[in-house]
Amino acid sequence: MNYLNQPVGKLSGIGAQTLSRLEKLGIRVIQDLIFHLPLRYEDRTRIYPIGSLMAGMTVLVCGRVEFIDVLPRGRKSLICRIRDDTGFISLRFFHFSANQHNTLKPGTLISCFAEVRHGFAGLEMVHPEYQVIASPDTHITETRLTPVYPLTEGLSQTTLRKAVKQALSHCASEPKLLVDWIPEAILKKYHYPSLAEAIQTLHAPDESVTIEALQNGSVPALKRLAFEELLAHHLSLKTSRNKTKAWQAPVFEGSSAKTITEQFLNSLPFKLTRAQQRVIAEIEADCRLQHPMMRLVQGDVGSGKTIVSAYAALLALTAGYQVAVMAPTELLAEQHNRNFSAWLEGFQTNVVFLTGQIKGNARKALLQGIVEGSAGIIIGTHALFQESVNFHRLGLVIIDEQHRFGVHQRLALREKGQQGNTRPHQLVMTATPIPRTLAMLQYSDLDISIIDELPPGRKPIVTSVIPAERRAEVIDRINSWVDKKRQVYWVCTLIEESEVLQCEAAEKTADYLTQALPNVRVALIHGRMKSTDKEVVMQAFKNHRIDLLVATTVIEVGVDVPNAGLMIIENPERLGLSQLHQLRGRVGRGKDDSYCLLMYQSPLSDIARQRLGILRDSNDGFVIAEKDLELRGPGEVMGTRQTGAVNFKIADLARDADLLEAIQQTGEQIFNQAPQAIQPLCDRWLGTSTVYAEV
Ligand code: ADP
Ligand code: MG
Repeated sequence: MNYLNQPVGKLSGIGAQTLSRLEKLGIRVIQDLIFHLPLRYEDRTRIYPIGSLMAGMTVLVCGRVEFIDVLPRGRKSLICRIRDDTGFISLRFFHFSANQHNTLKPGTLISCFAEVRHGFAGLEMVHPEYQVIASPDTHITETRLTPVYPLTEGLSQTTLRKAVKQALSHCASEPKLLVDWIPEAILKKYHYPSLAEAIQTLHAPDESVTIEALQNGSVPALKRLAFEELLAHHLSLKTSRNKTKAWQAPVFEGSSAKTITEQFLNSLPFKLTRAQQRVIAEIEADCRLQHPMMRLVQGDVGSGKTIVSAYAALLALTAGYQVAVMAPTELLAEQHNRNFSAWLEGFQTNVVFLTGQIKGNARKALLQGIVEGSAGIIIGTHALFQESVNFHRLGLVIIDEQHRFGVHQRLALREKGQQGNTRPHQLVMTATPIPRTLAMLQYSDLDISIIDELPPGRKPIVTSVIPAERRAEVIDRINSWVDKKRQVYWVCTLIEESEVLQCEAAEKTADYLTQALPNVRVALIHGRMKSTDKEVVMQAFKNHRIDLLVATTVIEVGVDVPNAGLMIIENPERLGLSQLHQLRGRVGRGKDDSYCLLMYQSPLSDIARQRLGILRDSNDGFVIAEKDLELRGPGEVMGTRQTGAVNFKIADLARDADLLEAIQQTGEQIFNQAPQAIQPLCDRWLGTSTVYAEV
């Protein structure tokens, strides 16, 4: 068996426990280990003069113990001061043993490695790694940067480093082992090193490689691996797309279809925009083929994607198939339920709404209707795809606001409704325009349609960026706005991913606003409220029984209240631009002027200021997404919700965006000239057990 495919247990020093911990990291065979790349590096290659240290540096120092003492003050700690010719620094231990106390006797020469921080008395290192220098030839510095790997509970860097070292040294002795699947011409073209060299460099960089270069991604070895990883993802999605295209799908065509869809369009209170018509034509063409459509409709907030999907639903219904509509939140699912029910009234179809709230016999009856086929359109959240839900004849799956769902969820859905060799068509909608280059990577398995036109009569939203110190002015503005019989959103955001904290903050804000605005009817909506309660609040807001709605980001998607033309977003600097753009899209739905106030917490960093400026200056989601990508510095990972939640080992979509163009080309080349490379590349980077391989 190829060395790379052998289980990691084969390496020395790896027992059963380590094995199961490695497994948690997805490391089963030696190849997985070799492609488990460092997160960052530590520099133990030089000793820093203590006098040159500054807080924030993580460095190696060397000095003699001056004194050592146990401080009872506050939390009991062991303090040890060391000094070299240039200065002194304190070492602080909160957990320590008598033995430690004895070893670190005054006069002892030691080396320490840790981050330097501000302490009570000057700079200090907390729990440094340290080593007593017993003789002049004690090994202190390393010749190479030390890799720091992603870990899991119970696994140590040392164990991982040792294991990687063994595997690497074996690879070095058998140079052919790490196969370069990327054609040589391509490596030459981009001046990339060989795979073996690149892997070696990343695990054990030689003297020529600096930490800075590794961080900003300019090391060719790193670029090469990022390139290969992105390529592997691209190839896997493309492969999955090709495979899906090989399935059969229902054909939505028939003599009655044309009359019915015309009837439908005539029944609408508005005329479709040209962009909507174009996308509908693209969908119709897809559904005439006997292979599953896999189409992503990208369109800015308010561009009218829902009606386009309703049209597609009608095509399926007319052909005698069921349609599943999946939304990311109950709130949005509810709104779809209302819209679809209203639009399709008179088209003899039964629209049902499946939520977690429906229980017992009512649920049973609903599920029965779905499996027997009396339910035509089934709307819900991801709960739709639970095992208990079985469809009678599912012909079309519509997924709204796709960015909220991960790639894997999207792929898994394709299997739902599979019958024999037939699978339903899939229509995915997103209001998060992602830059073209990213779209190629994220959605290589989908065809893309773009609605690049808003319905007529919409006025751009006027956006201002203001500091929270001007809150009083904002309160005045709300007062006069409400006097004009208009409504307002106040959106609370929080850094923490914790929903509980978000909701608490929103509650506090609602209390505050209720007091500050005695003549304004204030209500609160957040993600932890029961769906029925949310519904009541939303309905009241829609019917203008509420003037000011305080909300968490739950209102991000879907909600449509044209009279609400003013939105205040608190702490906008905490959110991604695309998400802010989406939130802002809740206003500007009517014919009247609308405003968005981005109320930030001072001080604002330069980048944050620039980012908010982009939002102020543009109402075009595509422009915003492109600029946002340009502005994100290296290492700033894109929010998962904006990218569809792919975890890369080494690639960073912001840092490596310059590679994406080349990946598209190279992907094409590999499909045509080296298809045998696809599977090994996917195995290498995505592991053998990913869902991609199964689709
Ligand atoms: P989104 O693309 O954000 O999902 P929606 O589908 O919710 O947007 O549409 C926003 C609003 O615009 C809805 O009230 C919808 O009925 C309306 N709308 C959609 N298409 C048109 C059109 N061609 N002309 C006028 N209004 C439209
Ligand atoms: Mg929508």
